[in-house]
Amino acid sequence: MENLSPKPYRLIPFPKDTSGNLLALAKARPAGLDRYKASHYTGKIALQLNVHTATTVLSGITVLGSDIAAKIPKDSLVKTAISRSDQLIIPGSSLKGSVRSIHEAITRSCICKISRNYKLNKQQVKIKVPEGYRECSPQNKDIRDRNVELCPSCQVFGAINCEGIVSFSDAICTQKTAIKFVPSLYQPHLEKEDYYSNVKENVVGGRKFYYHFTNSIHEGEKGINTQLAVSESCFVGSLQFVNLTKAQLGGLLVALGQDQNHQFALKVGTGKPIGMGSLTVDISEMEIWTRSGAGNIDNDIVPHLRDRYTRYTLPESNQLTGEPLKQFMQQMIQAAHRELIQEPQLKQLAEVLKFPTDRAAPSGVY
Ligand SMILES: [Zn+2]
Repeated sequence: MENLSPKPYRLIPFPKDTSGNLLALAKARPAGLDRYKASHYTGKIALQLNVHTATTVLSGITVLGSDIAAKIPKDSLVKTAISRSDQLIIPGSSLKGSVRSIHEAITRSCICKISRNYKLNKQQVKIKVPEGYRECSPQNKDIRDRNVELCPSCQVFGAINCEGIVSFSDAICTQKTAIKFVPSLYQPHLEKEDYYSNVKENVVGGRKFYYHFTNSIHEGEKGINTQLAVSESCFVGSLQFVNLTKAQLGGLLVALGQDQNHQFALKVGTGKPIGMGSLTVDISEMEIWTRSGAGNIDNDIVPHLRDRYTRYTLPESNQLTGEPLKQFMQQMIQAAHRELIQEPQLKQLAEVLKFPTDRAAPSGVY
């Protein structure tokens, strides 16, 4: 493997104390979904995802090009994206996965969903997780007894047998789809890269994140035409949350790139090493539900309506937009910095996910 391009990604190390020892996971009891908690935040965030480089979540189905576009040569095959009524979709699960991996990296959270056994060049590679960072896997008995403790990411996004308290809707592309050539991706070479903190033992050294690039690559020897959303289009979706603390809501906002001091873009879908899938998030509206008389909201920040609805017992919503929304978000984010966020990790990750960027996508072997 000669002439390697610079790696298209970087590992974000796990949080350590000043003597270099890994910090323990910050486990606590999850809030639960079954009851509205007046002291917590429940509501909905409207999300606009701005596409900066070609973005697609593949459906797994390949069709004849002539079936979906007139301009494509008759015998050319096209990989299709997930869509509904001719509109491209980013499934809520893809978006959630992308935001979750950021959240995991900037909090003291477990290593989730890592495939322990890699098949690489026809060889099985066993990957080990550092001591104490195993995925949270609560026992059914403990769940029944409400005796579960989970890491910060599992509390919010869910763990095995425990539902999360945020859910992302599918995001729908509002513009026409396009078809572009997407080159085949190279296999990772784990042993060449600083993927392990302990190469002999195959112990993972950190969490892998791809950089954003100025453009995505659409040429190469091998590859296939692919249905995708081009830059300057956008996806619209939402996320609902139940019983979040201030710091948890703030942590979620930071993971969406909304911290004014650490703004960044997300990476979603296929082709991350070749610059695809760069999206920035805009939040222009948030609903906070308040039960009549409950008062979970700081009066000076959210001009709430509950006094007008004292006869009702169902949650009423407060819509936040503009300056009040901005202030509210910053207040949540500050709480997250006090209680949840690991500053060195956030700083490093924000540098990797910085957008706009002047990094050019790797064109050769990486
Ligand atoms: Zn966990």
